[in-house]
Amino acid sequence: MNSKVAIVTGASSGMGAATAKLLAQHDIKVMLAARREERLQQLQEEIRRAGGEASYKVTDVTSYSDVKSLVDETVKSYGQIDILINNAGIMPLSFFKNLKVDEWERMIDVNIKGVLYGMAAVYRHMEQRNEGHIINFSSIAGHILFPSSSIYSATKHAVRILTEGMRTELGANQNIRTTLISPGAVETELYDTITDNSIYPALEKLGSRDWNQLDPGDIARTVLFAIQQPAHVTINELIVRPTSQS
Ligand code: NDP
Repeated sequence: MNSKVAIVTGASSGMGAATAKLLAQHDIKVMLAARREERLQQLQEEIRRAGGEASYKVTDVTSYSDVKSLVDETVKSYGQIDILINNAGIMPLSFFKNLKVDEWERMIDVNIKGVLYGMAAVYRHMEQRNEGHIINFSSIAGHILFPSSSIYSATKHAVRILTEGMRTELGANQNIRTTLISPGAVETELYDTITDNSIYPALEKLGSRDWNQLDPGDIARTVLFAIQQPAHVTINELIVRPTSQS
């Protein structure tokens, strides 16, 4: 059997990079996508050195034409796409009253439109093959609201609805699986996107200092678990928190 092919967006750091590495260790060919080329190139080399197969394409997920080119190039290189991992995301948390409208727009563009563009760009290919697996990244913030998370939570709720919407619309007639991954706190560069420093006391009140954040590899294993299920099994959603996170 041919090995599977996966596109991983946001592969230049954090959970995307960890997931790409783990998938490659399990004989899945990975197409790495993000904006930072140097990071992608380093990861591609690391995966190849370890005996896996990886390519990369510099992609801004807020551009539909970029995402379509990513899909086209993956099919050209590997002949098929079995899995799309829509992981790219940003989290510039801020209080509503501070009106960081530019950051709201960027979050909506990356976290919602980026995911939707990925789903749209692979859909015809998966429809024609009558198989495929789309894995979208939401968050615990897609289930709960906390101080400063209203816009981020709104984007992650949207990802849940889009994923569930695709699943219910496709119904039982197509073998396209959809899975939502909703992590709790994971130690990554995501927090670097925060510019509203006034949020930290409120986050600390929630006990954030006591959370032993997950390692990106913890989430990579979760993604692999969903992928490894037999074709008749769809894991709809997995919520994964640090045990210490309330
Ligand atoms: P990182 O900041 O480490 O990774 C985010 C990735 O998204 C980077 O590779 C970045 O690459 C990519 N990205 C950002 N903007 C774009 C863009 N416009 N086009 C293409 N790629 C882009 O964070 P995480 O690994 O933590 O985040 C991964 C996902 O997990 C996100 O969707 C996040 O919302 C979600 N999540 C994270 C949690 C956490 O606690 N860390 C908790 C719950 C959910 P580049 O800058 O090179 O483009």
